[in-house]
Amino acid sequence: MTDALSAYVRRCDERVAAVLPEAARRVRAFEARLTRAGLVPDDLADVASLDRLPILSKDELVDLQAADPPFGGLLAPGASLRRLFQSPGPLYEPEPHEPDPWHWVPALAAAGFGPSDVVLNCCGYHLTPLGAMFEQALLELGATVVPAGVGSKDLQARASRDLGVTAYVGLPSYLKALLEQAEELGLPPEKLERAFVIAEPLPPSLRAWLEERVPVVRQGYGTAEAGNLGFECDALEGLHLPDEALVQVCDLTTGEALWDGREGQVVVTLFRPDYPLVRLGTGDLSAFLVEPCSCTIATPRIAGWLGRVGEAVKVRGMFLHPRQARTALAGVAGLESFRLLIDRSEHLDSLRCEVVPAAGADEAGLAAAVKERIRSGLRFDAEVVVVPELAADEPTIVDLRTWD
Ligand SMILES: [Zn+2]
Repeated sequence: MTDALSAYVRRCDERVAAVLPEAARRVRAFEARLTRAGLVPDDLADVASLDRLPILSKDELVDLQAADPPFGGLLAPGASLRRLFQSPGPLYEPEPHEPDPWHWVPALAAAGFGPSDVVLNCCGYHLTPLGAMFEQALLELGATVVPAGVGSKDLQARASRDLGVTAYVGLPSYLKALLEQAEELGLPPEKLERAFVIAEPLPPSLRAWLEERVPVVRQGYGTAEAGNLGFECDALEGLHLPDEALVQVCDLTTGEALWDGREGQVVVTLFRPDYPLVRLGTGDLSAFLVEPCSCTIATPRIAGWLGRVGEAVKVRGMFLHPRQARTALAGVAGLESFRLLIDRSEHLDSLRCEVVPAAGADEAGLAAAVKERIRSGLRFDAEVVVVPELAADEPTIVDLRTWD
């Protein structure tokens, strides 16, 4: 464990003990969940003790809410709420009366947002939490907000120019579309200095496009139920965790927390005495970064979004994800297309990569380059085979193994 990680776990140990047993005594659905796991409230003594509580999936939370609307019995009686949201599922999210209820202040501060900013907030404000989440954090930081939402790009481009917008919050793809629209209208924003982008992956090509037009581009990661679960610092390597929530990366089979860099599901626990959302599985895959960060932010980092639970397959005990594979092999010279085949004989997994060379490519050189990329990018040894063609809709990973 890095110093940042062990200090973070110690702080969360204290919060688990201070908040969760008391919350279980107040919130019947949470206590019932503990009982089902064979636990009593005081068993929740530290972060390690949470491993004994099965992860609550988002689907299970939807079912809980449907069975006992609106919050599945997870909201304490008399809780004071500022806003109520509905996100796809449907899932309802109660916002507490707190200065920065979804913990985005540190994320935006790390990206340089402050009182001198006029921020175009292009997150949705209708029913879903994103718009209000970010507005709340921006107001806390003293920034001025243009509640733009999503849509009407021509009006947003005009407003950005007329109002001297200095910063953007929203999807990265939407920022690109907005800047293109503004350029077409002859209204490129003149003062745009920073952008905080969320809610979808930021591929390197899109990042490069945005950075040509916006000096500071930072990405964040979070969910509607839990808010901030990670944000970039100056180092742009991975995502720092917010200090106010517990983020774990958990084994997909056992639920055990993996602090050592192994890949697993991102699982979040909120320290809300009136709404104990504990061990909620996000369905996203990530891993802790075990090297210390060069910046001054005190919390540890995760690697960022590595895919969705369910798409990943385990090969020789390690996860292999289609998106990771596509990233690892992107830009290999002479590579037209590829697929990975996983097979198993004599209880040993084998990995084969079929590659289609581009016209005129050196086949032996291509095979060697792909083999090396798979070794360095995915940490697997693979046999690489050149094939004449693959179907256009061929999945990236084909699992041929049988387990009987
Ligand atoms: Zn950092």
